[in-house]
Amino acid sequence: MILEGETRLEHLVEMLRGRRLLVLSGAGISTESGIPDYRSPERSQRSRRPMRYQQFVRSPEARRRYWVRSLVGWPRIDQAEPNLGHRALVHMQVKVDLDGIITQNVDGLHQRAGSRNVLELHGTLAVVRCLHCRVPEARSAFQRRLLELNPDFRPGRIELAPDGDADLPRAQEDGFRVPVCLRCRGLLKPDVVFFGENVPKDRLERAWKMLERAEALLVVGSSLTVYSGYRFVARASQQGKPVAIVNRGPTRGDADASVRIDGKLGEVLPALAEQIE
Ligand code: NAD
Repeated sequence: MILEGETRLEHLVEMLRGRRLLVLSGAGISTESGIPDYRSPERSQRSRRPMRYQQFVRSPEARRRYWVRSLVGWPRIDQAEPNLGHRALVHMQVKVDLDGIITQNVDGLHQRAGSRNVLELHGTLAVVRCLHCRVPEARSAFQRRLLELNPDFRPGRIELAPDGDADLPRAQEDGFRVPVCLRCRGLLKPDVVFFGENVPKDRLERAWKMLERAEALLVVGSSLTVYSGYRFVARASQQGKPVAIVNRGPTRGDADASVRIDGKLGEVLPALAEQIE
């Protein structure tokens, strides 16, 4: 149902009142912090294809390409600040029974804002992990190593891409050197779930438990195109739990939603946090 003006917000407040709430967030909640998503209506059609797991693991060129771009893209993610939407969810924690947040985001902004019980379904860009010995390394330390190994690297004009990657001229990739694991010299990969890879089993179990405890699901800033996020909406709806969606533009879960608000999260969530008790 797409309601207009104040009525939609009242409807949402009514739906959430007195129910233990779970939030499922996506890239749309971070666009107002300057981190692009994949599927905003105005995002250009030449939208890049994200790196796939098999490609990253099999191809040294693909890895070099990824890390060249990530070297440039990481500082923007690292320095991004939580926005009004993230902060409103923190505010809601003390006003309603907000049990937790399952986020598809890898930017750490919910935690930076102060939200509790955040499950990072697709991992985090703040860590890189060895594919061989599984030892983690902080992305900031890895960034220093990238810079040390490539002292002459000079990025030109760049556009940040959704996964912390960035669009760069191809010539920048030639001769670029990628650091290996400090412990075993194995391959390092950002600790995020790439396309073509599954969410680790124990993490998914925790996410299902969060949904089990919840009495309502609020989706914020996700097109739900990726099944990994949509499955929570599908199951909540099968279980007869009310689902609300706040998102600019259509989502795959619209037919499952009892309330749907098409609006900007930096405006809708503060208004919701204000009205809800
Ligand atoms: P998506 O790009 O498919 O959908 C984002 C949705 O948010 C779009 O429908 C868009 O119109 C909407 N939106 C954008 N800005 C908004 C705003 N200010 N207010 C309201 N709505 C807004 O993102 P997704 O569903 O999360 O799927 C993308 C996948 O890529 C995820 O699995 C995620 O792991 C990854 N990703 C993460 C980040 C991040 O960590 N910030 C960024 C991009 C992609």
